Amino acid sequence: MKIKISNDALESFYEESDFLLDIGEIDFGEYQFWEKFWSSVSGKWVEVDETNLFKYEYDVLPIKNVTSEVVRVLDDFVEEVEDDVRYGKARCELCNTISSSTNICKGCGKSDYLELLYDEFW
Ligand SMILES: [Zn+2]
Repeated sequence: MKIKISNDALESFYEESDFLLDIGEIDFGEYQFWEKFWSSVSGKWVEVDETNLFKYEYDVLPIKNVTSEVVRVLDDFVEEVEDDVRYGKARCELCNTISSSTNICKGCGKSDYLELLYDEFW
């Protein structure tokens, strides 16, 4: 599964983060990390960790010379999704297990806490 990062991801980052840096919400190290990340991936396809899926977020697998660990990005920065593996799957809000059943959680066996990882209209 891959996602295409939007072309203006770096600009969006600057818009939000210059302010956050000013008010001390993020430190300069974080700012530099994300600046490098967004400038490297803007407009590009990147691989997603298919073992940890979310509905509105993506865990991006390490990218050579850019990141050494998984980085979580918000839907806002994503333009397109390819080979989406989320259809028919759900995340349990109780135990965080991802099930390929949308009726019962394979982790805790409960059914009340499942959140579908895709929109119904798919
Ligand atoms: Zn569960």
